[in-house]
Amino acid sequence: MKPSIATDYVKDTGDPEPYLKKISEAGFSNIHWCHEWNTDHIYSKDEIKDIKKNLEKYDLKVTDLHASDGEKVSNYWLSTDKDEQLKGEKLIQNRIDMAAQLGCGVVVLHIPDEKEGDENPKLDSWIVPLRKTLAKLEKSARKQGIRIALENGHLGLIKDILKGTDPEYLGLCYDSGHGNKRTNQLDILESDGLKDRILCLHLNDNDGVGDLHTIPFQGTADWKRITKIISESSYSGPVTMEIGMKNSGIEDEKEFLNKAFKTGKQLSGMINDATKERLTEKAKEYRNKNNDPVKIEVINRLKKTR
Ligand SMILES: [Zn+2]
Repeated sequence: MKPSIATDYVKDTGDPEPYLKKISEAGFSNIHWCHEWNTDHIYSKDEIKDIKKNLEKYDLKVTDLHASDGEKVSNYWLSTDKDEQLKGEKLIQNRIDMAAQLGCGVVVLHIPDEKEGDENPKLDSWIVPLRKTLAKLEKSARKQGIRIALENGHLGLIKDILKGTDPEYLGLCYDSGHGNKRTNQLDILESDGLKDRILCLHLNDNDGVGDLHTIPFQGTADWKRITKIISESSYSGPVTMEIGMKNSGIEDEKEFLNKAFKTGKQLSGMINDATKERLTEKAKEYRNKNNDPVKIEVINRLKKTR
């Protein structure tokens, strides 16, 4: 699995080219488009063409793209106000079209930051607009080969939302930092096949309190368990890190990117090791089953009676 990094590791607005150049120089071949992820910006056709040119220039592939919820009011697309909902829908449609033009297959969307363990999250205020907006966007997304990944937040709620939906259209973006700030998220991720709905990864670390987006292993996230779960999931895309320089303690951009690339490789190695370990276990199980002493005795007895 190739390492990938979010484009907003320094800032998320303005000209992305300098960052694309440096990301490429550090050895990355894949990126997560994260510019303008929380603004009202609508990308024009010319802008997207320029981005495409730069991607070719720096030999980078956009694997997935962070759509915008809107700047002034967060989560326009989940608003019960018709005009706001339409504004949100337009923003997401713009990112779906952009993703298709950039040749990437997954668009990420946040859901409201309800607290895990809330007995009564205010579902009625946004769950209806959520389903409505997703239904309105579905035809265009499917036609252009784009799937939508809902990002945790409240993972239990995402699990409920995904139940009964088509994995060809909807899935999960697992943010390990958001997961580390909450309790039991890895247990939820492992339950009822939820890990097989992963379409995108936002790997990052923190101290279990703040949403720091530091480099994996700089905080308290359980990387052994996270990489094991990824290895057991149906996800086979890049090891995408949504990290920033701000809280990393590294001031030099080149040094930050080099460390990020090395860390991506390390995570990829851990995922491979976990896969190998599981396959070895399975092979052992199979061998033991076929070397079952009772079975061997029965076979030998049968041979004798022939
Ligand atoms: Zn994230």
